[in-house]
Amino acid sequence: MKIKLIKTKAKEIFTKSKLPGCDWAINQYVGCDHSCLYCYAKFISRWRPPDYGKWGGWVEAKMNAPELVSGRHVDGWVYMSSISDPYQSVEKELGLTRKILENLDKTIKISIQTKSDLILRDIDLFRQFKDIEVGLTINTFTGKAKNIFEPGAISSEQRIKALKILKKAGLKTFVFVSPLLPGLIDLKKAIEETKDYADYYFFEFINIRAAGAEFMEALRQHFPESHEILRDRRRFLEFVKESKKVISSENIKVHAIEIHGS
Ligand code: SF4
Repeated sequence: MKIKLIKTKAKEIFTKSKLPGCDWAINQYVGCDHSCLYCYAKFISRWRPPDYGKWGGWVEAKMNAPELVSGRHVDGWVYMSSISDPYQSVEKELGLTRKILENLDKTIKISIQTKSDLILRDIDLFRQFKDIEVGLTINTFTGKAKNIFEPGAISSEQRIKALKILKKAGLKTFVFVSPLLPGLIDLKKAIEETKDYADYYFFEFINIRAAGAEFMEALRQHFPESHEILRDRRRFLEFVKESKKVISSENIKVHAIEIHGS
């Protein structure tokens, strides 16, 4: 798909974050060409001109982001990124994430999360930071589920390969297992294929409200059983219970299990 790229300038690049464990966020991109149908950030489209088109089809790039981090220090953890993926496809051409990492004060504590193996390009820069964590979102979606829900992202297998390389490079790594969807995610597989390469885990059950009506309609059409479970509080809580049982049966460090309700 052809991406509409809009080059912008920002006044500030460190924004206060309420995400668990993070104090600041850096979003050099707004919009994300990974185009995940369940993306919680797509609400931003409401404040963009209609000619931008659908979520996933446009990306704003804050071209002065690398200059904005130069000579700055913030205390607490900085998360990159909260409303976009720092290694989405446009990063190959623009290199904003790389330039930000080059310019950032290397004593800043930074946590970077992606669905892309482009992250491997910047291992040399990661090694210069005192406190850094790098993570991959892994959810084992394949076939129809992968094509419908994450059309622009690489496969879970490729993400696991990237995770292994990051760990072998001596970096602190985490895995974000999300979104937990009944019948569509193989939780045991996601953990067992990554636990030798992950220092810790985050788990997140789907946030129906943030994922939105288009996602729920696609789920209903293509995966009616999964849709029914999400719509039935009792069955959803059973799914949560079973998932927690799987998580606790594995010898892994869990930072958080996020449940948004049904
Ligand atoms: S990779 Fe993240 S930010 Fe990008 S579309 Fe998917 S969920 Fe949204």
